[in-house]
Amino acid sequence: MRSGDWPASTRDALPVDVGEPVWEDLPSPRDPSAAERRLLETLVGAVGDPVLQRQVDTAAVTASCRCGCSSVRMTSEGPPVAEARMLQLSEVDRSDHVHVDAWTRTPAHPDVHVVLHVVAGLIAELELFAGEGVAVSVAELADPTGITVA
Ligand SMILES: [Zn+2]
Repeated sequence: MRSGDWPASTRDALPVDVGEPVWEDLPSPRDPSAAERRLLETLVGAVGDPVLQRQVDTAAVTASCRCGCSSVRMTSEGPPVAEARMLQLSEVDRSDHVHVDAWTRTPAHPDVHVVLHVVAGLIAELELFAGEGVAVSVAELADPTGITVA
């Protein structure tokens, strides 16, 4: 069966690692750009968890995506969100992974899907998807809309 034949609900239920970015470590971690930090703060703010919120202060970018998109891998000094709290936030009863999804746009790209992955209680990845290998200007991103936590 071709993926195009699947009903939308089935495609949405596919594991999160489909099309997963392939990371290339930076020579050394860098601070998030002002625009990345702003986006991070908005997404984390929608979760409304003070522990997660504190992680933004020490968030650092450790890798970029090889495909050419603007997704980044991140790290934080923590402390991590407790497993019980992760379970509460997860829509699928996972204590190890929560994702915050939203939509935004730039003047050049009207549909940019943003996903913040929280893995093992820590900020781990900020995906910016406007198409495979498509770089977006993070500085030009509009405020995200339709933010969901799952
Ligand atoms: Zn990529």
